[in-house]
Amino acid sequence: MGTATLTIRLDAIVQNWRALDARSAPGVQTAAVVKADGYGLGAGPVATALAKAGARSFFVAVAEEGAVLRRVLGPGPEIAVFSGHMDGDTGAIREAGLIPLLNSPEQVTRHMDALPGAPFGLQLDSGMNRLGLEPADFAALKDRALAAAPWLVMSHLACADDPAHPQNAAQLAAFRDMTDGLGLRRSLAATGGILLGEAYHFDMTRPGIGLYGGLPFATALQAAELEIPVIQCRDVAPGESVGYGAAFVAARPTRLATLSAGYADGLIRALSGGAVLHAGGVPCPLAGRVSMDLLTVDVTDYVAAQGADPAALQILGPYQGVDVLAEAAGTIGYEILTSLGARYARRHAEAPPA
Ligand SMILES: *Cc1c(COP(=O)(O)O)cnc(C)c1O
Repeated sequence: MGTATLTIRLDAIVQNWRALDARSAPGVQTAAVVKADGYGLGAGPVATALAKAGARSFFVAVAEEGAVLRRVLGPGPEIAVFSGHMDGDTGAIREAGLIPLLNSPEQVTRHMDALPGAPFGLQLDSGMNRLGLEPADFAALKDRALAAAPWLVMSHLACADDPAHPQNAAQLAAFRDMTDGLGLRRSLAATGGILLGEAYHFDMTRPGIGLYGGLPFATALQAAELEIPVIQCRDVAPGESVGYGAAFVAARPTRLATLSAGYADGLIRALSGGAVLHAGGVPCPLAGRVSMDLLTVDVTDYVAAQGADPAALQILGPYQGVDVLAEAAGTIGYEILTSLGARYARRHAEAPPA
């Protein structure tokens, strides 16, 4: 088989959710963010596993994602939409029973006109200046909105992955200024905010990346394992070059493996020259540039140790998590995960490997 295998460890995702849930007080609800198809790992299987483990509320980016998720989860769980109630969303919100997080006075009016009495939340801007009602907008429509009993008021932290950043405390203060004393259910923390401590937890937390094994949740279990088959191996003499641009030149007699995955599978070209793969625990560096469908890897050390060519190499898994790979490409784990391509054979594993 030419396609690589992406194994998604649902057991690890469930354990990460439980570990993040344990960071807040028992009265704080831990939701789950499954936008962008569950950070590339499959919103349906991920949300199903988390619902079975006790998660009752899920967040997606857009109503279309919510409608797909509703068909998978059935009628019970809450599904909230960060982009709110966009023009054209009314049908999906009504039919799938979604909860839009209204971001602007226009969205509040649209929702109340189109679906009077239907549930909604409010997203407030506490300083990130990306989504949400500005304090003045919120003040102006507070009475009307509160009369309709919002499901949640929430805001989002811009710098929560850096606990020392002064913007964390500033956003906390701004959020409290807007919402203290209103008796509303509140949420401020994503993964980073959970790790900042109790003052940030309010009534509900919204972890995403930590569920999927990424920083800033440093003790997360890795949820994605990606194994790529070897198509062929060859010997390359010192001075010979490999791949596009002849960017790698062998410095020693080199055993080279050509693997069946490339930038079309989300192994972005920025990994060229920096990434390391593993075969049976032996680190094997990428040799030269990432191609569309192929990687070339120096397996000399593996062959020296094992006396045979490897059949496949791992680029994500126990030896190397998403953030190590992200670092090699100068990006973040979020981007590595959400770039993982459509061509992989995807396996959702319920239990740890035997
Ligand atoms: C993506 C997102 C989250 C989850 O953030 P992580 O850093 O992945 O935990 C929570 N809230 C909002 C508004 C988001 O956009």
